[in-house]
Amino acid sequence: MSFIVAIDGPAGSGKGTVAKKIAQKYNLINIDTGAMYRCIALKALDEKINLEEKEKLIDISKQVKIELKENGKVLLDDIDVTSRIRTQEVSSIVSQVSSIKEVRLNMVKLQREMAEGKNAIMEGRDITTYVFPNANVKIYLDASVEERAKRRYKEMQEKGISMTYEEVLESIKQRDENDKHKEIGSLMIAEDATVVDTTNYTIDEVVDKVSQIIENTIETKKGNSKCE
Ligand code: C5P
Repeated sequence: MSFIVAIDGPAGSGKGTVAKKIAQKYNLINIDTGAMYRCIALKALDEKINLEEKEKLIDISKQVKIELKENGKVLLDDIDVTSRIRTQEVSSIVSQVSSIKEVRLNMVKLQREMAEGKNAIMEGRDITTYVFPNANVKIYLDASVEERAKRRYKEMQEKGISMTYEEVLESIKQRDENDKHKEIGSLMIAEDATVVDTTNYTIDEVVDKVSQIIENTIETKKGNSKCE
């Protein structure tokens, strides 16, 4: 038996931070699917493969070895790329790389294998709609685009990356647009997902809300099995 918490939402909605905290709180394995697409994009950059070379990008997605460690480290072909996958260079091409249908199918297969038989929290863009449409808990995290850009801008300043707020805002808008218009796995709200708008909440408040949703689901499940 496995228990899956699926979280989708746009860039900067807080999925990554919230998923990490929820994973610790409920002892779930944390699967950051965006990190997986970022690995493909990073490998393409390292190998000087451009976005038009679709077959080469598909080959990467077939052969690549991606490991998401418990301590949050991301290994690409056994090398620690935790920081390198978060650069603006990777962010600016990852959406196009992840739009290639075959790349997505290969990643989705891996994602399903990673969660097989486990208790996991998985976050991304298509987890509630495509990867695990029958997940036990389905949540869509959202926030206004200005607030999401503000959060990313702050992160970049802390890392010493020089980008203006307007540049960050533009880049997030472009990624939203791309993520909402993919052949498969587009970002959308699943009919049965609970939407949590994080615009005016702190991370801890969002964690409390998500915890409440998880606990309600567990309670309902217990209630149902008593009735059967
Ligand atoms: O979540 P993160 O911003 O790291 O994701 C990077 C990119 O990977 C997204 O903008 C999206 O294009 C892609 N992605 C996806 N499907 C997922 C997770 C991420 O297409 N399940």
